Amino acid sequence: MSEVSSVAVIGAGTMGSDVSLLFALSGCEVVVEDVSKKALRLLENKYRSNVEVLRRISMTKEDFESVWERVSVTTKLEDVRDVDFVFEAVSEDLEVKRKLFGVLDGLPGNVVLATNTSSLSVTEIAEGLRGAKRIGGMHFSNPPIFMPLVEVVKGRETSEETLGVIARMAERLGKTPVVLRKDMRGFVLNRILMAAGAEGLWAISRGEVTPEELDASLKAMGFPIGFAEAVDNIGVDIVMAVGRHFREVYGDRFLLPVGLLEEMAEEGRLGKKTGRGFYEWSSGAPQVGGKPSESYDVMRVVAAAANEAFWIINDGVADPEIIDKVAKLGMMSPVGVCELADAVGLDVVANLLNELYGRYGLELYKPCPLLKEYVVRGWRGKNAGRGFHNY
Ligand code: NAD
Repeated sequence: MSEVSSVAVIGAGTMGSDVSLLFALSGCEVVVEDVSKKALRLLENKYRSNVEVLRRISMTKEDFESVWERVSVTTKLEDVRDVDFVFEAVSEDLEVKRKLFGVLDGLPGNVVLATNTSSLSVTEIAEGLRGAKRIGGMHFSNPPIFMPLVEVVKGRETSEETLGVIARMAERLGKTPVVLRKDMRGFVLNRILMAAGAEGLWAISRGEVTPEELDASLKAMGFPIGFAEAVDNIGVDIVMAVGRHFREVYGDRFLLPVGLLEEMAEEGRLGKKTGRGFYEWSSGAPQVGGKPSESYDVMRVVAAAANEAFWIINDGVADPEIIDKVAKLGMMSPVGVCELADAVGLDVVANLLNELYGRYGLELYKPCPLLKEYVVRGWRGKNAGRGFHNY
């Protein structure tokens, strides 16, 4: 396929608005379609403030007007034609996405269709469609303007050509594509984040740590953002939906403290988008200060994430090198989860998980059989010369 010059972005919410700006900044003509007129109205202001920020930190030389000239908006899907590439970022609902892709299936066969889904599989979305081979995953990390990671996902039918077009497009937008050839819900990044986040949310719900303390502990470890802050950014409703989608496939390992999350949702505390979540956002980004808790062991978060890394390896989705690459790029973290667990010791991780499983009985803490196998073989991490990685 020749170079992409014209792109359609379907969905102008949190992700579609930022990613459509990236397409426009890369020189593409962009049509943004959303069923909501309000979402399209908000787009102009989102672009304006993002372009300002990017100019301030010398990430673009273009001014808002010249970028905006390349963008048109519509509420009609029929206006999406004569494009080379479609990026889908509508609500995380399988039926909504399947219905949409059913219509997009009518576009000429050379048009590549990329989905930003974070908790559904590309294969499920493309199932039964004539053009399934030109559908692939293009999963950005939030906020896409700044985060370098794009997981490029091969669904069962996705062609190599489609993967190549999506990966090259990610590079053109200034991102680092990581290609995943086994398509399971959550890919790599969100499985790790949701496992670690589930531990954080359970600890908050049990009163073992406050959101401020948890975030301070994670920042003290070098993470740029804490979990409570991340949940506020993503949206409590989205986190609940992702948890539901994961449970359908992975079982109760992804059971979340629904009571806490439902209470927040009922009070309209969905996070940044409603002005309040764990933090107050009504007058801009919150000052997240606070001190790490003296009683809460933040290694519990690392243990939950490392356990999920074992499940990812066990499922054949990615190896430790890819998992660490994704974690570093997708969380801007200084170390990968596998490296971190190797440094702590996999026997220490396994003991901590066993203790938590005994105390709370949650599947989240049940050590993956592969972790147990590593420990039995003496692959206990960096000090032993072998763990996730070889040393
Ligand atoms: P959002 O709720 O902010 O926006 C979704 C937009 O889609 C809304 O503006 C809605 O009006 C529109 N929409 C719904 N149905 C539509 C349809 N049939 N046609 C056109 N527009 C439609 O959601 P979001 O957070 O931007 O997420 C979008 C996608 O990106 C989801 O698949 C999500 O899983 C994925 N994603 C989200 C994040 C995140 O942090 N929020 C990160 C990575 C990927």
